Amino acid sequence: MACTMLVHRLHVLASQAGIKVAVSLRMTPSANALAPAQETKSTCPYCGVGCGVLIEHQGGVIRGVRGDPDHPANFGRLCTKGTTLHLTAHGAGRVLKPEVRFNRNMPRMAASWNTALDYVTSEFTRIIEAHGPDAVAFYISGQLTTEDYYVFNKLAKGLIGTNNVDTNSRLCMSSAVAGYKQTLGADAPPACYEDIGLADCLFIAGSNTAYAHPILFRRIEDAKAATPDLKIIVVDPRRTDTTSIADLHLAILPGTDIALYNAMLNVMLWENLVDQAWVAAHTDGFDALKIAVRDCTPAWAAQVCGVAEVDIVQAARWFAGGSTPRAWATLSLYCQGLNQSSHGTHNNAALINLHLATAQIGKPGAGPLSLTGQPNAMGGREVGGLANLISAHREMANPTHRAEVARLWGIDDVPAKPGKTAVELFDALKRGEIKAVWIACTNPAQSMPDAHQVRAALDAAQLVVVQEAFSNTDTVPYADVLLPASTWGEKEGTVTNSERRITRVNSAVPPPGRARHDWKIVVDFAHRLARDLKRPQHLFPYETVEEIFNEHRETTRGRDLDITGLSYAKLMAEGPLQWPFFEHSSSGTARLYEDGQFATANQRAQFVLTRHTGTAEATNARYPLALNTGRLRDQWHGMSRTGLAARLYAHVEEPTLSLNPTDLARRNLAVGDLVRVSSARGSFVVRCDATDDLRPGQAFMPMHWGGQTANNLGVNSITSPAFDPFSKQPELKHAAVEVARIDLPHRLVAMKHLPDDFAAQAFVREARAVLAQFDHATLTCTGREHAIVTLNAFHAQAIADPVLAQVDQLFGLDAPTQTMRYVDARRRIEKAARVEGSQVTGVALSGETVAADWLKSMMLEAAGAEAFRPWILAPLSQPPKGSLNRGKVVCNCLNVAASDIEAAARQGLDLADVQAKLQCGTSCGSCLPEVRRIISAARTIPIKLAG
Ligand code: SF4
Repeated sequence: MACTMLVHRLHVLASQAGIKVAVSLRMTPSANALAPAQETKSTCPYCGVGCGVLIEHQGGVIRGVRGDPDHPANFGRLCTKGTTLHLTAHGAGRVLKPEVRFNRNMPRMAASWNTALDYVTSEFTRIIEAHGPDAVAFYISGQLTTEDYYVFNKLAKGLIGTNNVDTNSRLCMSSAVAGYKQTLGADAPPACYEDIGLADCLFIAGSNTAYAHPILFRRIEDAKAATPDLKIIVVDPRRTDTTSIADLHLAILPGTDIALYNAMLNVMLWENLVDQAWVAAHTDGFDALKIAVRDCTPAWAAQVCGVAEVDIVQAARWFAGGSTPRAWATLSLYCQGLNQSSHGTHNNAALINLHLATAQIGKPGAGPLSLTGQPNAMGGREVGGLANLISAHREMANPTHRAEVARLWGIDDVPAKPGKTAVELFDALKRGEIKAVWIACTNPAQSMPDAHQVRAALDAAQLVVVQEAFSNTDTVPYADVLLPASTWGEKEGTVTNSERRITRVNSAVPPPGRARHDWKIVVDFAHRLARDLKRPQHLFPYETVEEIFNEHRETTRGRDLDITGLSYAKLMAEGPLQWPFFEHSSSGTARLYEDGQFATANQRAQFVLTRHTGTAEATNARYPLALNTGRLRDQWHGMSRTGLAARLYAHVEEPTLSLNPTDLARRNLAVGDLVRVSSARGSFVVRCDATDDLRPGQAFMPMHWGGQTANNLGVNSITSPAFDPFSKQPELKHAAVEVARIDLPHRLVAMKHLPDDFAAQAFVREARAVLAQFDHATLTCTGREHAIVTLNAFHAQAIADPVLAQVDQLFGLDAPTQTMRYVDARRRIEKAARVEGSQVTGVALSGETVAADWLKSMMLEAAGAEAFRPWILAPLSQPPKGSLNRGKVVCNCLNVAASDIEAAARQGLDLADVQAKLQCGTSCGSCLPEVRRIISAARTIPIKLAG
């Protein structure tokens, strides 16, 4: 740890002194000898699969990671994001000390914890005393531990007296929550991962599981291999790696999920596939729903959804399993495609209606199982960490529930007035109704829809507190007070994954610098605020994180999520366990509702009347394209962590807007052209790409990139803040947009070799300042043993000499003795390359850039420059001795490119032979769907015969 801290310190001191340094951390034998290597159990901090990991660390430094073979979520497997966690553990981008600015005209300055927390306390006290408790708000994160969440919730609802606590889970799972509660009575996924291997039919809806939950997709592949008769139906407007395994892909139009599910129910009714006896015994509301779906014929839905009538009928039959539903098991797996909708709650309820109608719930292999987007969205809900909940799934609107929580906390009452949910919270901040916001472990300036308005809200706030581990988020610049927090590998507590399984998270290394655990920051602040507001002093007595868990455990007694039988010791001894886990029980609960008793007041499940309503924003003549947003395989959320590992860009290096080729042709666009994407809320510039995976009239863009590596805010600058009336989850999955060519004819490409990820990220932070010099510019990073950072810039006017000089200096091209240079002043062409030893370590091409791709490949491969030296500055689009460009790396674990796989497949090799030759897909397996697709496509290309 001392080494890591020294490196951080050197960077801090150098930047304060205005000196450029490239310091990286490399373990030396003597450092290795400081302490024996150890492994500590934790979980992956990314998606809600909740894979267990073993963190290898030595002397306070995380050196490696592997899947925990004993963890029931993954049995030792990890995807590309999990296997590279250690590469992101020690970077220059950590927040290491508190920083404060006392007014907006000042830069933030380093401060002590006392100064920072005293300032926040005095501001919160001033605002609460002048304007009441609802003038402050907390916006927290599904990446916090359950214990972190618990103390934030208690701080707001128990100490301050406001329900203004919401979380980025609102953008992720709140429609799934509301759907469960409306139908089954509780926010509790009834099925479990084991059911994937026990199902007769998998119904995957609104989820590119292969990318977003790769380790569950491995289970789906295993299930299909073990049981070829397993029926897999995938509902997704796009063709994805997940649809590649489907027996039936229903590529419905955006916003038509309810029409599809209602039509499937219509078929089930007509074909006598409903389990009438079970429905009569265990549910209410079916008669009304029957009437409501009477007109939802497959023919009608085929028109609405844009899929074949026969496919809807087939989906209904496979879902219901013929005339013997009780001998059949259908498991639904679903995610943001259902949730991020202005009718997300009813998308969920309409799907659960199908499970209830066919009794596909409460038995092995069956049930609705929402896939959680974040590692602990579930834990946050368990402690009531949302604006409409209180502890242990209690309802804020229920006076009995409020009284129970008040008694447990030893206070008079908890507030009854619902707090502001995510979109409402930032709207209220912008209006001045909320005056101070505390943001922890999340990045709303990038991840919220309509990001310009969110930024305006942050500008309008009297006080913005940001509690963060990473400095590279779009929200950090808005912080008046920046509080350094611990992160993965350092944190301790518990998290709950998508199947209600609680895992103990252990700390492998201490937080760096002056960073503290999130719960400790909250507790320290709570003591100060209780003192100044003259509120009860007893609410935050915790010395250890376990004391918080034990208090949370007590709040669950008698609730649907009762964990009174769990303890830290039990979780460590027996491993991750599923709730409910009652006191004196010997095991947790794999499946809920096996007895047909539901969590509603009368213990009967409720059918919900759901009607097709379409998207909140219709496409029209001005905005004719339906924009969908989603995830990539190797990045996660806003990339504050995955973006630190250069190799995770090898699969997709920069964001592009994907369109069907007919839409490109209609707009006279070619692949790679710059386009302006506009909606009613704004516009941004990006390069376009062509894909047959989308229908004409649709567009897709990944959600990961924001303003850290481009001079625009990314896709959420144009997404819609319209939200579901029940869950308040915004419709991030659909916006009406138009795409038009933008002509920025003057281009510059600059590249720099950096020895490792650490140096690359430090350079990206330094280079960010130059982005503003161009009409459009991005910074990308890729590499493996070393990294290449690339500036891609486009400008309407010729790029000015001072800007070229700034780029030269930044990219190390200002040393005449090491720099080759070509200048054609008349044509405004200027090229420079730095050669050190036998390698090209820096390049800038302005005005003529055709050699950029092969030069980058040469730098990536560390190819010897001598053979190329005469051509480095030549206008060649190909290297003189054949192509070095391997293209996209498909298998990130073993560094196998698409071109390698294609070449092998063209020799006639099948998957097994290709794997034997190249090893691709033999490590984490995340690339397997793509490898299969490449082989299949390559082998269908006819071989040209000589003569
Ligand atoms: Fe992490 Fe991948 Fe497992 Fe998700 S599937 S928890 S990202 S290793």
